[in-house]
Amino acid sequence: MTDQPLILAIDQGTTSSRAIVFDQSGTIIATSQQEFRQIFPADGWVEHHPLEIWETTLTTAREALQTAEQKGGKVSAIGITNQRETTLLWDRQTGQTIGNAIVWQDRRTSDQCQKLKEKSLEKIFTERTGLLLDPYFSGTKLAWILDKNPDFRQPAEQGKLAFGTVDSFLLWRLTGGQVHATDATNASRTLIFNIHTQKWDDELLEILNIPKPLLPEVKDCAADFGMTAPEIFGRPIPICGIAGDQQAASIGQACFQPGMVKSTYGTGCFVMMNTGDKAVRSANRLLTTVAYRLKGETSYALEGSIFSAGSAVQWLRDALGLIETAAQSEELAAGISSTGGVYMVPAFTGLGAPHWDPQARGALLGLTRDSGRAEIVRATLESISYQTADLLHGMESDSGISIERLRVDGGMAANNWLMDFLAGILDLPVDRPIVTETTALGVAYLAGLQTGLYKNLEDIAQSWQLHRSFKPQLADDRRKQLLEGWQQALKRVLA
Ligand code: ADP
Repeated sequence: MTDQPLILAIDQGTTSSRAIVFDQSGTIIATSQQEFRQIFPADGWVEHHPLEIWETTLTTAREALQTAEQKGGKVSAIGITNQRETTLLWDRQTGQTIGNAIVWQDRRTSDQCQKLKEKSLEKIFTERTGLLLDPYFSGTKLAWILDKNPDFRQPAEQGKLAFGTVDSFLLWRLTGGQVHATDATNASRTLIFNIHTQKWDDELLEILNIPKPLLPEVKDCAADFGMTAPEIFGRPIPICGIAGDQQAASIGQACFQPGMVKSTYGTGCFVMMNTGDKAVRSANRLLTTVAYRLKGETSYALEGSIFSAGSAVQWLRDALGLIETAAQSEELAAGISSTGGVYMVPAFTGLGAPHWDPQARGALLGLTRDSGRAEIVRATLESISYQTADLLHGMESDSGISIERLRVDGGMAANNWLMDFLAGILDLPVDRPIVTETTALGVAYLAGLQTGLYKNLEDIAQSWQLHRSFKPQLADDRRKQLLEGWQQALKRVLA
C-alpha cells in the first residue's frame, strides 16, 4: 500500500474512549476502544476521573494509529468528537484538574436551575443559547464547582484556571498545554455561549457568576487547533476538526441541507435536524443548537432526544429476561402481526422533548390475557418509533420545513423490523448508511476538510453511502390508529 493520507478520529464517549482511523473514502482502517469507570458519588451525581478520560484516549489513539500505519498509510490529521456538556476545570500552570469531570447526566444542579427559573431567567438563557435551564448543560456545573470551592475564585478571575468540555481538555493535553480552545458546537452546549453572536455572553456569565478568563477560545469546527506535542505520537500531527458527538454524527450522515435529519439509536436516541442559517426558536421545547460552523458561517439545528431507547431493550433483556440478546427483539416483534393494543411508554427516567416531564415514569398499557412476551417486546420497539414521530412532528411545526427522509445510525439501527416499522409510522423513507460509525466519521470529515482532503461539503456528501433504504408501507388508517393509541397511552403517563 502507498502512503495514503489517513485521518485519526478520537471519539471520547460517555462510557468508553475510542479511536478510529479512516481513509479518504471513509473506510475504517483501524479501531481501538477502552471503557472507563462511571463514578456515582451521590444520588443523581455522575462523574468521570479526568486521568481515566485522558489515559484511555491516549492508549486507544496510539493503538489505532500504530495499527493503521503498519498497514501502510500515514495519519496526516486528527479530529476530536466527545461526550458533550461534561465539565472540567484545571490549573493552567500545573495541569492539575480540580475534582472530577461532572458528566452531562449529573443532576446535582437541579435546585440551582429551579431557582433561576423562579427568577424568570429561563427566557434569557433560551433566547441567547437555544437551551433550557436544565442541569444537563455545562454552565450550572461550572458555577457549582466554583461555588463549592471559594478558594478557586481568585485564581479563576486571574486566569490561572481553565474551564473546558472534554474536547477542550483533550486538546489542551494533546498540545502539551499550548492550546486552550473549543469549537462552536461544544460551546453551544454550555449555557453561556450566545449562538446568535457566536460569543461568550457577558450577561449570562454574570448571572452564573463565572469569570470570563476561564473560558476557551471558540473556533470553527474545521480549523487549525494546533499540533500534538511530539512525545504523544512520536511526531507532531495537526488537530484539524472538533465537534460534539451528536453534531459529529449529523456531519457523518452528511446532513448539510435544511430539512435533513439524522437519528442516532443507542442507549438513548438523539434526533437532529439541519435548519440552515436560521436558528429556529422552538415552540415544542426542542433545543436550538449549532449544527456546525465553517469558515465563520454558522449552520443551526433543532435537537430532541429520547431518554430510553436501547436502554429499554436492555431492560427487556436484563430486568425482565424476555429476550437473551438485544437482536432477538427483532424476530419476536416480526413473529406477530400486532401488539393487540399493548403500548409501552418507556419513561424510566422521565420524558424528554416535546413533553419534558421529569416526573413521568414508565407504563405498560392495554394488557389482556392474550398479551405475552412477543407483544411486550414489540410494544417496546414500537414506542421508539412513536417517540421519533413526536420529535419529527415538533421539528416540522417549529421550522415550517417538511421532512423528506430520515437517516439512521447507532446500535438499534441494525434492527430491520424496527427500521421498517419506523418508516411506516413516520410515513417517510428511513435510510441506513454503510458506515454507521457516523460520530467518528463526522470529525474525520471535518479534519479532512481542513487539510484539503475534501474540497467542500458537497464532496463529503458524495462519499456518504447508502446501505439500505426502508420504504413506508403502513396503510394510512392503520398509522393513524396506532398513533392515536400512543397518544392515549402517553396521556396516562404524563403528570
Ligand atoms: P451507545 O453508543 O449508546 O453505547 P450503541 O449505539 O452501541 O449505544 O447501541 C447499543 C444499544 O442498542 C443497546 O442499548 C442495545 O440494547 C441496543 N441494540 C443493539 N442491537 C439491537 C437490535 N438488533 N435491536 C434492538 N436494540 C438493539
